[in-house]
Amino acid sequence: MKIHEYQAREIMSKFGIPTNHGELARTPEEVRAIAEKIGRMVVVKAQVHAGGRGKAGGVKLAKNPEEAFEVASKILGMEIKGLTVDRVLVADAVDIETEYYLGFTLNREDKSVVLILSAAGGVDIEEVAASTPEKITKINIDPTVGIQDYEIRQAVYMSGVDTTKARAIASFIDKLYDCFMATDAEMAEINPLVITKQGEVVAIDAKMNFDDNALYRQKEIAGLREAGSELDEYEVQAMEEGLTYVHLPGGNVGICGNGAGLVMTTMDVVKRAGGTPNNFLDFGGSATAEGVQKALIAVLRDPDVKGIFINVFGGITRTDLVAQGIVDVYDKLERKVPIVIRLTGTREELAKEILEGSNKPLVFVDSMWAGAQKIVELINAEAASA
Ligand code: GDP
Ligand code: MN
Repeated sequence: MKIHEYQAREIMSKFGIPTNHGELARTPEEVRAIAEKIGRMVVVKAQVHAGGRGKAGGVKLAKNPEEAFEVASKILGMEIKGLTVDRVLVADAVDIETEYYLGFTLNREDKSVVLILSAAGGVDIEEVAASTPEKITKINIDPTVGIQDYEIRQAVYMSGVDTTKARAIASFIDKLYDCFMATDAEMAEINPLVITKQGEVVAIDAKMNFDDNALYRQKEIAGLREAGSELDEYEVQAMEEGLTYVHLPGGNVGICGNGAGLVMTTMDVVKRAGGTPNNFLDFGGSATAEGVQKALIAVLRDPDVKGIFINVFGGITRTDLVAQGIVDVYDKLERKVPIVIRLTGTREELAKEILEGSNKPLVFVDSMWAGAQKIVELINAEAASA
């Protein structure tokens, strides 16, 4: 999961990492007021879930509050990598002497945490990594032991940073490691970590990504989740409801099933039958009536969904409970679309009886292929008659 720079700064500061002072604003007027308060040169920075903001024109210096207002008017509303800027950070601008790169990420192959330090930091770090990788020092840290002082020293001396600042830089490395570990981050990056003209070491950017699978124990961080770069509004709502749902905008067939493999196969088969899946939704291994109801409501939220195909294999799952869930929720659905159901396995005879005895337009089929063809046929028929 991604967060914004201003949020990453706040988290890092809890671990004792100093950043230049900054405040969040949503309008040019707020930006002007903050700039007035700071009373010096400020930097106005787009807050979006994307890197490379500087190169995209989303980071601009302003000498006075009026200039800050003007710069903010341009940055607010602009698009960076397809994301619209609705917030900016207004920070006390720093006189930069040198820009370094400091970051931690995971090295999955080595099952370690990797410390990355370079004296060639700044907006061109990707270019540096591609053309002169020797300028980037990487040290694998064993997370079961934790970062060692000698590893920090090794990084500092290998990377070519100003060694008269070794102590201060070492302290950033140490604290950023703690921050990275304690928050279950996948990536924590300070680019640039700067030496100012006054000789101070300051973080003027902060970036963090987190492991989604650890969010259950990182409640505060989980609360920072927003619709946007990773999840759209439908997915955020489904996630809040505890559903395993992936939206495929533009599709017309809603898909539900139990088990990721079965659901993905169902999507493939619907595609082969000429339909376009609108989503992936996995009820999980033991689908219940309540889970099925929540799922159907979620799948129907996108108005592009013109029909739903439910495909359930009853192993542990009792298909009669699934059938009852569908029947019970049907009248509550805000939109009525064709629903095709294939249920097989545990108590399937009972499930079939429940569905057929319900007097609702629920179509029972006995194979996945038949169901895929049926839902496509019903959707096409409705489209033709509309
Ligand atoms: P990114 O491009 O998304 O990584 O955004 P950054 O926060 O890293 O800003 C991009 C670049 O803007 C930095 O590498 C700096 O060169 C410049 N910049 C950011 N803040 C300041 C500042 O306070 N003073 C000065 N002089 N330049 C800054
Ligand atoms: Mn940066």
